[in-house]
Amino acid sequence: MSAVIINGKEIGQEIRKSVEKRVAELKEQGVTPGLAVILVGENPASQTYVRNKQKSCEAIGIYSELIKLPEEVSEEELLDQIRSLNTRESIHGILVQLPLPKHIDEDKVIATISPEKDVDGFSPISVGRMILGQETFLPCTPFGVMKLLEYSGIDIAGKHAVIVGRSHIVGKPMGQLLLQKDATVTYTHSKTKDLPSFTRQADILIAAVGQPNFITKEHIKPGAVVIDVGINRDDNNKLIGDVHFAEVEQVASHITPVPGGVGPMTITMLLFNTVQSAEKSLSQDKSS
Ligand code: NDP
Repeated sequence: MSAVIINGKEIGQEIRKSVEKRVAELKEQGVTPGLAVILVGENPASQTYVRNKQKSCEAIGIYSELIKLPEEVSEEELLDQIRSLNTRESIHGILVQLPLPKHIDEDKVIATISPEKDVDGFSPISVGRMILGQETFLPCTPFGVMKLLEYSGIDIAGKHAVIVGRSHIVGKPMGQLLLQKDATVTYTHSKTKDLPSFTRQADILIAAVGQPNFITKEHIKPGAVVIDVGINRDDNNKLIGDVHFAEVEQVASHITPVPGGVGPMTITMLLFNTVQSAEKSLSQDKSS
């Protein structure tokens, strides 16, 4: 029996359509949602990510502005750019493409983005609010995974979710969001001993490791839901996930493919957050 394939491309499209509708409604009220993307240096992967984000914005009517800074830009100049965007009314979301050059303190940069415009959800205030279950922007990749589960009709309450990976941008927030939906959450990482003994307990397994084909059928409890966040390239430069898809789809009940699973959801949720920010600023304008 092979698993149901969770189609992130289709689910992403469906969400983007509803976000596009909200953009149109905002425009009728005189507000165009605006996203500023800061790109430092010439990292080719970052350039591609930024281009994709901009294209996706344009496709649904969000204004996007690219601020390109040279590799040698000083930390202070970058912080000044952010401070100025924090006060610009036409900008509702600010995103700094990571990684940054070594001479710049990433934590300081992220903490400078106003929490009201932190559409990536990475700032300490956004993370704190998320953990406390307060209203905030949720980090786009784990938020996208939650939407995949929701649209696929997968119950979370009472399930054992095992996360492989504990990075700030994927693993950690992923576990928090699942916890908020009443999953029992186990985090695993590179120091975990006997990883399969944990992953085999998972009703929902999230792989966010960054190693191709790392999760094999030996890691899976039959009938588990398997979400593959990994994006890796094989020897032929083809995209592959952290999960050995061919093996695992034979035992899982649901599985996300790579590409076409979690990937398309990340930008979708960035668009979602940007529009939500614009809506919030409009409702604040109306009430003041
Ligand atoms: P990181 O490298 O920051 O984190 C990897 C995590 O995996 C770490 O917590 C690490 O543990 C853990 N890990 C590494 N080796 C092992 C092992 N042998 N056993 C168990 N755990 C291990 O990566 P990210 O979280 O940023 O990204 C993970 C993957 O997701 C990557 O492939 C990335 O490209 C992809 N990604 C995809 C996105 C999307 O839109 N689909 C968005 C963001 C990322 P430790 O903490 O102990 O080092």
